[in-house]
Amino acid sequence: MEHAKISSLKGIGEKTEKLFQKLGIYSVEDLIRYFPQRYEVYEEAVPISETEENHTMTITGAIYGRVQVGGTPRMQITTLHVKDLTGTMKVIWFRMPFLKNTLARGGSITLRGRIIRKKDGLVMEHPEIFYPATKYREKLNTLQPVYSLTQGLTNNAIQKAVKQALSSYRPNDILPEQIRQQYHLADYETSISGIHFPQDKEEFYRARNRLVFEEFLLFILSLRMTKEHKERQLNGCSLREQPLITEFLEKLPFELTRAQMAVWSDIKKDMESIHVMSRLIQGDVGSGKTIVALLAMMYVGLNGYQAAMMAPTEVLAHQHYHSIRTMLEQYQIPLETELLTGSMTAAQKKAAYERIASGKAQMIIGTHALIQEKVVYHRLALVVTDEQHRFGVRQREMLAGKGDCPHILVMSATPIPRTLAIILYGDLDISVINELPKNRLPIKNCVVDTGYRNTAYTFMKKQIAEGRQCYVICPMVEESERLEVENVTDYTKNLQEVFGTKTKVCCLHGKMKQAQKDEIMLAFSQNQIQVLVSTTVIEVGIDVPNATVMLIENAERFGLAQLHQLRGRVGRGNQQSYCIFMTASKTKETKERLDILNHSNDGFFIAGEDLRLRGPGDVFGIRQSGVMDFQLGDVYQDAEILKKAQEAANELLNQDPQLESETYAALRAAVEKVKEKANLETTL
Ligand code: ADP
Ligand code: MG
Repeated sequence: MEHAKISSLKGIGEKTEKLFQKLGIYSVEDLIRYFPQRYEVYEEAVPISETEENHTMTITGAIYGRVQVGGTPRMQITTLHVKDLTGTMKVIWFRMPFLKNTLARGGSITLRGRIIRKKDGLVMEHPEIFYPATKYREKLNTLQPVYSLTQGLTNNAIQKAVKQALSSYRPNDILPEQIRQQYHLADYETSISGIHFPQDKEEFYRARNRLVFEEFLLFILSLRMTKEHKERQLNGCSLREQPLITEFLEKLPFELTRAQMAVWSDIKKDMESIHVMSRLIQGDVGSGKTIVALLAMMYVGLNGYQAAMMAPTEVLAHQHYHSIRTMLEQYQIPLETELLTGSMTAAQKKAAYERIASGKAQMIIGTHALIQEKVVYHRLALVVTDEQHRFGVRQREMLAGKGDCPHILVMSATPIPRTLAIILYGDLDISVINELPKNRLPIKNCVVDTGYRNTAYTFMKKQIAEGRQCYVICPMVEESERLEVENVTDYTKNLQEVFGTKTKVCCLHGKMKQAQKDEIMLAFSQNQIQVLVSTTVIEVGIDVPNATVMLIENAERFGLAQLHQLRGRVGRGNQQSYCIFMTASKTKETKERLDILNHSNDGFFIAGEDLRLRGPGDVFGIRQSGVMDFQLGDVYQDAEILKKAQEAANELLNQDPQLESETYAALRAAVEKVKEKANLETTL
């Protein structure tokens, strides 16, 4: 049954099946594992005077005046006003003229919808109707799943399909009974139904808890059960001290920070030891990880070996390639560089392969293209991966597999506490760059409400007049990807008008082709674009030191760790930089959270505070940190579960290192599936 096609469900024909497939749902199993993105909580109605822009809220009151229908024949707009003791709210619906006949003047009504700002003030747009108002009682405090959608497939359709699947499908629990009891975990069936249709928050947390535990456990087991995890390989390359590196360090216009020097010395020690290096460099955004990696690459290069650096995106690969190449030339280091990315033409790639295979190039920089079968290395002795959390562990291993046990260096800007990093990165030693270069002026932050938007624009204009550039993170819409694209595009158009034709405003979003994104990022890095409006796709690791302003709309809707990463795009040069957190929310919680960012530029501190404020388990309404891309689990928020899963993994593997016993058959199969999936993603 679990492999049954989704079309085996009633009401899902060929056409609907295609829509589900667009969301990656092929089988009934896929469907029940398609978890809601968030939940609508039907909360108590708020007084009209307390409604807030850009929030979905419930109001209740009397229908005031007449229901009117206007707009165009193709887009009829129904308008009414609702009045309570504190004020009046204008409400509109699209294409629902029949409401005129069902809603009576003076009647009491409850409405739940999004509040937006129009020219004439706050308006509730296309709300759900509870009429008469007493109907809302039944829904009060219940949680309604909201799924990520694709055009043509409604939330309701997904809900219905999931309900049907749950009623006919008896999934098998992969967690051994003993583990479930020991860690007080709900069984699989209860959890699956609880994650889709929780009766209350209690049930949701119980369900989620179990599913996150399972997700972490499978991840840890799959790491620990790969053969690469076994013994450290012996170090096959011999490296000698290189005077050119000392000279290079002396000639650099800046001095390495104490932390950078310490990490560099860790790396050298590793590479000279009897085992190969496997080291993670953790350092906050802007702490200068790249130069340390470059030293390591130069070290092996000058010793007659090859070094490869893999970046998660084309844009980053280009950036690293150019900066490394420029530095080598500038400081007359006799090493050849080579770029290899997926978007290069076949002829370009062929030439690159040749220069790599022959050993003509010693410093190779690229994207996933570096692990393609066709690439043959020549004495590959060091593999560097940048911004690791975007890569699977497997990809790192694939690249390592290209050489004869090369040294491995992983760089990450994700401030994960050491205890968690040890679990997640299992086999890596960890070095931390815990200070920023001295020339940096701390970023100036401010938290403002939307009334400040025009002032912010004026400020940006001034900075642009002084030759600087700005980023704007666009307001978020959650309904669908299509809306998100429309939203960024509209926002950009508006902003272009505000800034006038002399300033170029451009947008960037996740639905663009890689080549298009690259083109835009390149233009931005050359100051041909002054304002970049983006969704959160704004690439990790981007280094445009001339950008000095970051304006983040709807800051309240992001996790603090993510806001910190976004902010890290500015403050990278010697100019004063600014980050403006704009929020439509006036709640105390929002203020308290954003205040943390306002007063600290330290990623580790922020991650800790974020956790403290959110409290474990509070997952409503806030985007997750996205670290390592777990489906449900969040390494910060679910740190306790992660530790428990680690404990359970240890116990299991101590008892039965290969999980051979019959009791673990289902678990072992699930681990195999996780590994397969990782392999598949790697080769794509
Ligand atoms: P990240 O750690 O975020 O990857 P980068 O390696 O991109 O940071 O470094 C950010 C910028 O800081 C680069 O332009 C780099 O040249 C510069 N930089 C690195 N180390 C130092 C230092 N010790 N002093 C001054 N500037 C530095
Ligand atoms: Mg970087």
